[in-house]
Amino acid sequence: MKTDVLIIGAGPSGTASAAILKKEGFDVVIVEKTTFPRFVIGESLLPRCMDLLDEAGLLDAIKEQGYKEKHGAKFYRGKDTCEFNFGEQYTKGQTWTWQVPRADFDKVLADEVAKKGVTVLYNSTVENVAFTTNKVTTTVNIKGEEKTITSKYIIDGSGYGRVLPNLLDLNIPSTLPVRSAFFTHIDDTNRAQDIESSRIQVVVLKADVWIWIIPFSNGKTSLGVVGDLSFIDKTKSNEENFRTLLTSNEFLNPRFGKNKFEFEPKIINGYSAGVKQLYGEKYVLTGNSTEFLDPIFSSGVTFALESGVLAAKLVVKELNNEKVDWGKEYSEYILQGVAVFRSYVDRWYDETLQTVFFSNEINSDIKGQICSVLAGYVWDNTNPFIKKHKKMVQTLAKVIEIKKSETA
Ligand SMILES: Cc1cc2nc3c(=O)[nH]c(=O)nc-3n(C[C@H](O)[C@H](O)[C@H](O)COP(=O)(O)OP(=O)(O)OC[C@H]3O[C@@H](n4cnc5c(N)ncnc54)[C@H](O)[C@@H]3O)c2cc1C
Repeated sequence: MKTDVLIIGAGPSGTASAAILKKEGFDVVIVEKTTFPRFVIGESLLPRCMDLLDEAGLLDAIKEQGYKEKHGAKFYRGKDTCEFNFGEQYTKGQTWTWQVPRADFDKVLADEVAKKGVTVLYNSTVENVAFTTNKVTTTVNIKGEEKTITSKYIIDGSGYGRVLPNLLDLNIPSTLPVRSAFFTHIDDTNRAQDIESSRIQVVVLKADVWIWIIPFSNGKTSLGVVGDLSFIDKTKSNEENFRTLLTSNEFLNPRFGKNKFEFEPKIINGYSAGVKQLYGEKYVLTGNSTEFLDPIFSSGVTFALESGVLAAKLVVKELNNEKVDWGKEYSEYILQGVAVFRSYVDRWYDETLQTVFFSNEINSDIKGQICSVLAGYVWDNTNPFIKKHKKMVQTLAKVIEIKKSETA
C-alpha cells in the first residue's frame, strides 16, 4: 500500500492533521490500533480548540452533536471560590467551547475525515518504521496480518502509545513529579440547570490533590481526582474507594453520593511524559506523543489540535517543495505553549496560583489576562501573563501576601 502521508492514531491530533492534508489534496492513511468508539480521558476542551477545529473543517460536524457548552471554569477551596468566564478574557478569541465524552467526540472526528476521503484503518497497529532517502516504510499489523505501507512522510499522533518516541528512542522522563488520576463517569441526576453546569468545576481537596467535575449533555458527568492518591485503601475496590471519596466530601456528596457509576473507576499513574525532539527527517510528533504535562488546565486536546494542524500545514509546505524551518516554525512554537502551561501547572501545585485565585484581590484586567491562558490562547505575547509567564503569577501572589499581612 502507498500513500502521501501516513498518520499514526485517529485521536484529535491525527484527525486534525488528516483533515488539513486532505483539504490540500494529499492522499492520507490513518492507522488506528483500536476500533472506535474507544474510551480515552480528556473531556474538557478550551475555546482555542474551536479555531483549530474550524481551520481543519471539522467544527460543523462537532456542532451537530449538541455537546454540553462550556463557558468558563470555577475553582473551589473550602468556602472560597474563583470563577473565570471565557467571555471576559483579554485575547480576542473564542468565548466558549464544549465538554465531550471522548469516545463519541473522537469517533465523530474520525468518521468526518473518512467522509472527506481519508482512509482510516482500524484494528491496525504500527509496529515498525524504516526511513530511507525517499520514503518511509511502515510495518503495520492489520487485523492480525503484517503489511507494509510506504509514504513520503509520517505523522505520529499516537498519544499515550508514543509509537515513534519508543521506536526512535526519543522518550525522556518528565521533569514534573509523578502524579496519578482516578476517574469515572457518573449519573448526574441532581445537576442544577444553572450557569454552574456550563463550567468545568475544580475542587481543591489538598494543595496537590484536586477533583474535576465535567458535565456532559448525555446526563452523565466525568469526575476525577488528581495528585497524590495515597488515600486509596488498597484492600478495597476502585468503586468502594471512589464512593468513599464522594460521600466523605460535603461538596460532592449531595450531588453524587448515591449516584451510579457508568464504569468501574480507573486509575492512571504517572501520566506526564517528555520527548527529546519533536521532529526529524520525514517525521513529526504531535499531540500527546510529544509532551504531556498535567490535566489541571485541560490543555491536552488543545495541544493535540494545535500541533496536529500546524504539523500538517508544514508537511504540506515540504511536500510542495517549499523550505520549512521545523525548529523555528514547529518546535519553538509548540514548546512556547508548553512552557507557558508548564509555568501555570508548577504554580498551581506550589499553591502560588491558588493564592492568587482564592484571594479575590485580582482586578478585572488581570483576571482577563489569566483567563486567556485558561482559554488556551498561550501564544498571545501581548498578554503579560504569557510574555512573562515565569514571573507574573509569582509577583502577583507576593503583592497579595503583602497586602494580606498589612491588613492582618
Ligand atoms: C487524567 C487525565 C485527564 C485529562 N483531562 C483532559 C481534559 O480535561 N482536557 C484535555 O484537553 N485534555 C485532557 N487530558 C489530555 C488528553 O487525554 C490528551 O492530551 C489527548 O487525548 C491527546 O490526544 P492525541 O490525539 O494526541 O492522542 P489520543 O487521543 O490518545 O489518540 C491516540 C490514538 O493513537 C492510537 N494508537 C496508539 N498506539 C498506536 C499504534 N501503535 N498504532 C496505531 N494506533 C495507535 C490510540 O489507539 C489512540 O486512538 C487528560 C489527560 C489525563 C491523563
